[in-house]
Amino acid sequence: MIVGIDLGTTHSLIGRFDESGSRLFPNALGDVLTPSVVSVDDDGHVIIGQAARDRMVSHPEASVASFKRWMGTARETKLGKRSFRPEELSALILRSLIADAEAATGEKVTEAVISVPAYFSDAQRKATRAAGELAGIRVERLINEPTAAALAYGIQEQRDGARFLVFDLGGGTFDVTVLELFDGVVEVHASAGDNFLGGEDFLDALEAAFLADHKLGSHDLSAQQLGQLRRRLELVKRELSQQTEVRLNFALGERQIDWSITQDRFNQIVDPLLQRMRTPLERAMRDARVQPEQLDEIVLVGGASRMPLVSRLIARMFGRLPMRHIHPDQTIALGACVAAGMKSRDERLEEVILTDVCPYTLGTEIGQMDDHGRVQTGIYSPVIHRNSVVPVSREDTFWPMRDGQRALNLKVYQGESPMVVNNIKLGELEIKLDPKRPRTESAVKLRFTYDINGVLQVEAQVLATGEKYELILEQNPGLLSQEEIRTRLARLDELKIHPRDKQENLALIARAERLYEEHIQARAQLQEWIARFRSILESQDDMSIREHHREFGRALDALEQMR
Ligand code: ADP
Ligand code: MG
Repeated sequence: MIVGIDLGTTHSLIGRFDESGSRLFPNALGDVLTPSVVSVDDDGHVIIGQAARDRMVSHPEASVASFKRWMGTARETKLGKRSFRPEELSALILRSLIADAEAATGEKVTEAVISVPAYFSDAQRKATRAAGELAGIRVERLINEPTAAALAYGIQEQRDGARFLVFDLGGGTFDVTVLELFDGVVEVHASAGDNFLGGEDFLDALEAAFLADHKLGSHDLSAQQLGQLRRRLELVKRELSQQTEVRLNFALGERQIDWSITQDRFNQIVDPLLQRMRTPLERAMRDARVQPEQLDEIVLVGGASRMPLVSRLIARMFGRLPMRHIHPDQTIALGACVAAGMKSRDERLEEVILTDVCPYTLGTEIGQMDDHGRVQTGIYSPVIHRNSVVPVSREDTFWPMRDGQRALNLKVYQGESPMVVNNIKLGELEIKLDPKRPRTESAVKLRFTYDINGVLQVEAQVLATGEKYELILEQNPGLLSQEEIRTRLARLDELKIHPRDKQENLALIARAERLYEEHIQARAQLQEWIARFRSILESQDDMSIREHHREFGRALDALEQMR
């Protein structure tokens, strides 16, 4: 079975396309949103999802979240005795999602279409595919998240020429994309965004306001207290999406803090964040060369787009209200399912072929002679421009700077700055030249080809001799080689992962342990409950486990509601 997956910074979802359309599968706790959090317990067992998120509070050193931000880098996270690459952490999330899909259908998952932010670089895309390999599935197709969102809203069924703007504010990323349906094909016309702007930043702003109001520095709180405060403020933030004023009672040691915040004040403190959203919105519109009135629909996705201030920003900038009938945090996953359906060659989706854009400019470094005959190096010469529809192939011709030059050192960069130092170097290639030939006759033709999977091929040809070169990119330290993937796959297979049917009980214990950290006055009670539940689990008496599970859950609910 081919599934669709939204591998999010904060939450991940899985589903597939069947007779009734896109369908998402719930995890062991009955939720379609699985927190993208990994934790390792004292026995070295891996814990994923809500239980892992609770363990962020009780066992912060053994838990990790938001690792999507590190995709494409070699950063390792130590959890318990082992270190994990971001691809491996993502693979563990994928494995857990796959188990949920297999439990729901009884079928085996062989392949997935995974969504990635439009802004993901080549390295980040490759890392996402490596994560798929490490999870034991095939990932032939990555889909840009905004493209998936538009599919969920049925752009493919609109009249020809329909234009959509997709606004995606998730936990840590912001994407704006303009799409058009042209001849039955969904085309991405422009995408822009900010990889470091999301719902978390609104939480940070709320936290800063709370601390400032009480003349507290973040060092005045222990890590546990800070974690607890953020959990509570997250709820405050969500309530502010519905209510004009929200109260918070927070115990800080002996001190009982009573705080309240109005929607107006919240809007005020997050205004700088709101202003940051304008630039990508304007840029995407400019790059796509469309006027607000030419947009057929504006689609809001991402959990953080639930904040009313987002709709208001859209209304102010575009003079109309966005469309919203799908849960904004499920939209992308539902669209990924549509794409998975296409991949399985579902007839109803036959005509719709997706085209994407290359989200960044790709080019090479050149030197220029100034008026005094001095050579200025480090100048960026774009070959493929940002927002070119892929697959795209462009060529350009370059000459050596001087006569008698023996070689042309060709460096390939990705980025938008006119100076290469500010861009990302992808690789380089040395092209041999005949030093006896004058520079004007030593032209080198360069061809850049960027395909739908985000793979860049660079070909160079010395025109005088016909000699050809192909760019072998240097091993990117941020990427795993095929051999490393194989080794790491074997190591991941050795990891002990709690079976799916144990997860509900595991999540309950993780939640109790989190509450233990948070409610000092209830610790003795919690410790007793945890011990009792653990011993009942050991009895392996299913009836009694279920009964106590319910009871324990209710007791924790009651404690959680205590403010
Ligand atoms: P990602 O794509 O990064 O995994 P999601 O689309 O799941 O993220 O969005 C997660 C973000 O949405 C979090 O920052 C969360 O605080 C925020 N969020 C979810 N529901 C609400 C709400 N009702 N009001 C405000 N923010 C919300
Ligand atoms: Mg998302």
